[in-house]
Amino acid sequence: MALMLDCRLLFRKVKDLRSLTPRRNRVKEKWAATRVKQPPTRLALQHFDATYNVQLGKIWPSVRVALLSERKYGALLNHFSNHSILEDLQSQGCRDFISDRHVEAEPLCTNQNSEVGCNEESTVVHLNNSDCDGQQPTALQLSPNIKCLVFPRGDVTRFKPARPDICGLLSYYLMDAASVLPCLALDVREGHIVLDLCAAPGGKTLALLQTQSIRLLCVNDTSASRTLRLRKVLHSYVPKEFLTNEKLRITSFDGTKWGEIERNTFDRVLVDVPCTTDRHSLMEDDNNIFSKNRTGERRRLPQLQLELLVAGIQAACPGGEILYSTCTLSQSQNQSVVEQAIYVAREDHDIHLQVVSLRPLTQMFRNTFHFAPDLHLGEMVVPHLALNFGPIYMCKLKRLT
Ligand code: SAM
Repeated sequence: MALMLDCRLLFRKVKDLRSLTPRRNRVKEKWAATRVKQPPTRLALQHFDATYNVQLGKIWPSVRVALLSERKYGALLNHFSNHSILEDLQSQGCRDFISDRHVEAEPLCTNQNSEVGCNEESTVVHLNNSDCDGQQPTALQLSPNIKCLVFPRGDVTRFKPARPDICGLLSYYLMDAASVLPCLALDVREGHIVLDLCAAPGGKTLALLQTQSIRLLCVNDTSASRTLRLRKVLHSYVPKEFLTNEKLRITSFDGTKWGEIERNTFDRVLVDVPCTTDRHSLMEDDNNIFSKNRTGERRRLPQLQLELLVAGIQAACPGGEILYSTCTLSQSQNQSVVEQAIYVAREDHDIHLQVVSLRPLTQMFRNTFHFAPDLHLGEMVVPHLALNFGPIYMCKLKRLT
């Protein structure tokens, strides 16, 4: 009772004080209005500090500083353009990191706490006996037609914007050079039918087209505006006669439903999912997945990624290969999604998969990219101040049934 009286007295005193303050100087008593609003880039950094400190341990401080510094680009050469720009870029000090790879790459057979088999050029990792039938994968063949030029280690020179040739086609496409790796890992062969499930704005689509070996490339993105951007990119790089339905099919479906539309069809499927796009989230407040009003969307990402990967697995033909990739360091969007997809494919769709090791690929490109050590599933390019590409995570699966 005494406490209630005290409270009432205090409340009256506050009211009295308020009536002494001129109206124009009064502040609305709202907690929300006084709390400092954090920009999304700041929220992203807080989130990454909390999760990656644990996940990456002692390498997080160096990855963090690289992520917060200017990134490096690669120039993906466009063989459809008449402009021969290769020598020009080489004279500026660039090199094609793909032809300049580490040639004596040896497959490592000590991978990932799993049963492992390997042949001369590729390594197979078996998750457990039910995920494999002991088949050896075909060796990885890198297309000699994909060329991506980068400035040397530690050199942060920027590329000039590409210029159009007489037909209006641009000579190169600027992208994170590590984004080319999932396309190389996909190992597209002559006559293949390929699906690029989440394709916009189209950097990886362009890289796949450079191989010149695809019979039919189906590119899809659920976002109409981003599909429009993808079309614009294709029109700036690929001749009209190539943009026909027999060679290239552009759609705007919800990729999670692909398994219901077109099952057991594609030799290769690229599943480059939406993710927290770590570098963008730290640098740009616009269109940032860490904005307060996108919290729900961000939390649903792993479920969306899982559904997209399972749909991609269903779309591949038995014997076909699926490449899952993201541009985040997050374990819950990378390895956990792949593990769950393998389980869901087996339990719900009776599809058995084999994890194909990408260690030979990382060995080849270890002078150009900094790879995460000892990942138990898949491979990841981690940003590094001297080689500031990535992050890119990738994991390759082969359908056995
Ligand atoms: N592969 C692209 C490239 O290299 O330029 C980048 C893809 S981006 C990481 C992910 C894309 O997935 C976004 O363009 C987004 O619109 C698309 N996406 C999101 N949800 C999707 C869905 N349910 N089905 C298909 N695409 C989806």
